[in-house]
Amino acid sequence: MSVVTDSPNSNLGGPLRIVLANPRGFCAGVTRAIEIVERALERFGAPVYVRHEIVHNKHVVDQLKAKGAVFVDELSEIPAGAMTIFSAHGVARSVEEEARARNLPTIDATCPLVTKVHFQGRHYAKAGRTLILIGHPGHAEVIGTIGQIDAPIHLVSTPEDVHALPIAGDVPVAYVTQTTLSVDDTRNVIAALQERFTDVAGPEVNDICYATQNRQTAVRELASVSDLLLVVGARNSSNSMRLREIGAEMGVESHLIDDGSAIDPQWLNDVHTVGITAGASAPDELIDSVIAALRRLRPVTVSELEGVKETIQFRLPAALRHPAAPTASAAE
Ligand code: SF4
Repeated sequence: MSVVTDSPNSNLGGPLRIVLANPRGFCAGVTRAIEIVERALERFGAPVYVRHEIVHNKHVVDQLKAKGAVFVDELSEIPAGAMTIFSAHGVARSVEEEARARNLPTIDATCPLVTKVHFQGRHYAKAGRTLILIGHPGHAEVIGTIGQIDAPIHLVSTPEDVHALPIAGDVPVAYVTQTTLSVDDTRNVIAALQERFTDVAGPEVNDICYATQNRQTAVRELASVSDLLLVVGARNSSNSMRLREIGAEMGVESHLIDDGSAIDPQWLNDVHTVGITAGASAPDELIDSVIAALRRLRPVTVSELEGVKETIQFRLPAALRHPAAPTASAAE
């Protein structure tokens, strides 16, 4: 563990040790999605329209709004000819078709790892397998994935859902997975599939999303050294919610908070070590605001777990990659 800062400046209580998880916060897919909106604003001028929150974080959305992005729920809210961006979660084919029918110029900010799940699903369906998606009903990514594959898809979240599937045990099945579920989250559901069906295919689960797995592994390590766990992230962010749940499952008082203003000083009673992490869509400045809020309550030291170093970067869509690209007339 490396100590980053050491700055006691209050005498309201005993010293508080703050430990930061590593990795935490932005993943490569979120970084790319935000950059797509920023570059589109620079290149095409404001406003650009974004269908759904580009990522699940209000602060990120508000900052982009201030720069001229307009967030809408449906394409019908976008004026004719206006630059349109699809969020990192992906969209159904029907949305792409609607954009084409309306001649909207589009840029696709779907995370490449989500796109990979769409490819996997199509591949299995083409091979004649009955497709099962492991994910949360109603999540934007799940809606997009179901709408990207022209075959019936059964959605399951739990082993109980698997037992209730109306599919005979000898039918060849294949599963794909929502990217914000880790290997650990899907293990029981996959085991139930293997128990229930004789012929089950699926992708390498380690390979689904490096960021989800790394943040969950890191929060386990963090919770093991913390008396209190604070997860910075939004309530509609599935990966942030899961980080809080993991802390709670490990017996540590755990709270999901938007920023430092949400801290209840009572949480710090009898606490010596506070672990802080952040979901994949939470910016660093929100973690800074949490540290600043704690520093106003108690003298603090801040250190960071070593963890895994992430170096993954995703390329931008072609329309934004080269400075000289003349127009962005099609999603990549
Ligand atoms: S959490 Fe994983 S799948 Fe989701 S945007 Fe980040 S890198 Fe992509």
